[in-house]
Amino acid sequence: MARLFGTNGIREVVGETLNAPFVTRVVSAIGQMVPPGPPIVVGWDARTSSAAFARIASGTLAVAGHHVLEVGLLPTPAIQFLVPRRHAQVGVVITASHNPPEFNGIKCIGPDGLEVERSFEEGIEQGVEKGVASALPYSRIGDVSADSTGAMEYVAAIAGHVDVGAITARRLTVVLDCGNGASCVTSPYLLRRLGCRVITLNAQPDGNFPGHLSEPTMANLADLARAVPALGADLGIAHDGDADRAVFVDGTGRYVPGEETLTLMARDAVERHHGGIVVTPVSASQSVEDAVRPLGGEVVYTRVGSPTVTHEMQVRRAVFGGEENGGLIFPQHQLARDGAMTAAALLDLVARRRETLGELLAGLPRYTLVKEKVGCPVELRAKVLAHVAETFAKDSERVVTIDGVKAYRDGGWVLLRPSGTEPLFRVFAESKDPAKARALAELGLRAVDGAVRELAGPA
Ligand code: MG
Repeated sequence: MARLFGTNGIREVVGETLNAPFVTRVVSAIGQMVPPGPPIVVGWDARTSSAAFARIASGTLAVAGHHVLEVGLLPTPAIQFLVPRRHAQVGVVITASHNPPEFNGIKCIGPDGLEVERSFEEGIEQGVEKGVASALPYSRIGDVSADSTGAMEYVAAIAGHVDVGAITARRLTVVLDCGNGASCVTSPYLLRRLGCRVITLNAQPDGNFPGHLSEPTMANLADLARAVPALGADLGIAHDGDADRAVFVDGTGRYVPGEETLTLMARDAVERHHGGIVVTPVSASQSVEDAVRPLGGEVVYTRVGSPTVTHEMQVRRAVFGGEENGGLIFPQHQLARDGAMTAAALLDLVARRRETLGELLAGLPRYTLVKEKVGCPVELRAKVLAHVAETFAKDSERVVTIDGVKAYRDGGWVLLRPSGTEPLFRVFAESKDPAKARALAELGLRAVDGAVRELAGPA
């Protein structure tokens, strides 16, 4: 059976694998997974094809007898927020998150608002393989209705989780870069509601991404980094295309790596709860553990991928969770990565501590995290992984195999993990010493490359 879902839903190139018949097949299979009755929420991001594919999804579900609630162009976490509140049994999101403009995708949300588990995705994949098609008579066709109230309901809920009075009293000036994505319809209004003076960049939804590509990297946010000090703003905020992530720029224009925000907010959550569990993938920085342990917190590591993190948080009743890419999860709001909630929580922290973002970050344990990748044919993935696991087990202090191989050695760690979707291994390495982090990454790259050459045999 062909695997369609990666770590975060289906992502394909529009006009190639992703076309109207493909969307119909996948959504028909989703429709078959649940009985007609409770509504199905359909929402979409700002990509050029998203509204069109969403309408195909709605129509496909309605002719299969479902009641469809179209919630419109919204951030993925806003759609996740609405699924349980509209008593829906499933949510279908047309989005490709931060991918380049030629991509789009499909993501499935469970009745609790969490991304569905792998077993549900496998059911969809089986349905696609079998080719399920609905042929209902006129009397059993479902309906499609529009619900445009979701954006402001979502914004109000987030404002309810922070101290609006304290944030307002700080009279913060914030530069917000929506990256022409789904956050255009929510985050500017949220920040105004929190009493900030808001200056927006790229705040019109446009799937051509005229401002910059929708991955919130340092290179893509050069304008934001320049604008913050030039405008005398306190800080800058940027979202990825579907706004389940938020990244920050401090008052000097420094791009704040996601692992620093993860550590800062994890420490705050543990401090406020006087302990508790923080869930993060095995790729996260050691700084999270360093920051929460002295406060009575515990870090639980998972495989990479936000569905795994949120489900583990649910099971463990975690006080906080998230990824090192700016995808943070605040369980008091919802068990979903949420860019707008992340922005509000960070402003709340700045207001409570009466410090600047730069000052707050200066107090954190400092590590250098190097992220690299190296090619590996998909068919050699498992063999290469076993080979490097064996090699590293011999001369490392400790090896963890939750996802790939994570070896603690030489004053840091290196993680070698095969990509779920691409013919490559991701290599992450970390140490307090930048030179050691780089050396560990090189060691990892050489180990994978050497194993590929050895196992591939003579060309
Ligand atoms: Mg995203």
